[in-house]
Amino acid sequence: MQRELCGGTAQSPMTGDCAVDARDLTKRYGERILAVDRLTLRVHRGEVYGFLGPNGAGKTTTLRMLVGLIRPNSGEVRVLGEAPGTPNGLRRIGTMIEAPAFYPFLSGRDNLRVVARYAGIAEERIGPVLAEVDLAERAGDSFGSYSQGMKQRLGVAAALLKEPELLILDEPTNGLDPAGMAEMRTLIRGLGQGGRTVLLSSHLMTEVEQICDRVGIVRKGRLVAEGTVAELRAEDALRIRAEPLDEARRVLAAMHGVGEVAVRDGQLRIATDPARSAAINRALVEAGLVVSEVCVERASLEDVFLDLTQESEVGS
Ligand code: ATP
Repeated sequence: MQRELCGGTAQSPMTGDCAVDARDLTKRYGERILAVDRLTLRVHRGEVYGFLGPNGAGKTTTLRMLVGLIRPNSGEVRVLGEAPGTPNGLRRIGTMIEAPAFYPFLSGRDNLRVVARYAGIAEERIGPVLAEVDLAERAGDSFGSYSQGMKQRLGVAAALLKEPELLILDEPTNGLDPAGMAEMRTLIRGLGQGGRTVLLSSHLMTEVEQICDRVGIVRKGRLVAEGTVAELRAEDALRIRAEPLDEARRVLAAMHGVGEVAVRDGQLRIATDPARSAAINRALVEAGLVVSEVCVERASLEDVFLDLTQESEVGS
């Protein structure tokens, strides 16, 4: 499932369509903890990439290495063509990796003034970024009075101040209620439009499924699957309830283009294009069978995620 769209090899450096090119990254904490294990990650320019994994899988550690907050033990990284942590790279990357630290007694706008001044960014940027994260109306209120969702959005606003080409967000919906999560998802989808690259980490499959162009699933520091949501999902299937079951199975097995017919919980299950459901229904009815249900079974990314991250330890 892994693709090599960014091109390049360990011998030939990354090509221009790759925003993040990390190869064989390994990070150990002491002797015992192998947090990231020969991880190869490529994020294409302009995409929203979801870095998905359960707690402790190594997501934060990876993101920290990408921006030079910590060094890998081995492996190579280029972010926007630069080594991690170099001023030339950092000025083009917006990050929200640590919990955003703002002064509670200052307003959202004044907190951004502090950040802008510190980073040498013109104050003219503050209005547009506040509007982009939908905080313009509450910009004069103190940070301490903000809801958790507003606090997170101010963190995104701070990351946007330098008009970054790449935005790296570590668990941006962490700690938010369902409404706050939905707002953040809408915001991130918007941020990913217009050529900006977004790399976000999450342990929530449904979230990544709704926002991201491509997804990488990490488990115990290793990338275990990568692709678009559609690529990662198992094939769609049809579930059919018909009587008598054996006869229905025989009719379906004889139909052209229908794959293996499985029986599960007294129903038939076939991996086939859902568009064939009407033809399948007709064939069964014409064979004199009673069809009480034909429905499409779509595998969610969650099924795939659980399969990949909860597999037995044997062989891992
Ligand atoms: P979460 O979703 O819970 O934030 P994660 O996927 O981001 O998890 P990491 O925070 O990268 O995972 O942690 C990966 C592993 O490295 C874990 O076993 C964690 O305990 C360990 N780890 C992380 N930071 C340190 C550190 N500073 N010192 C020692 N071990 C660490």
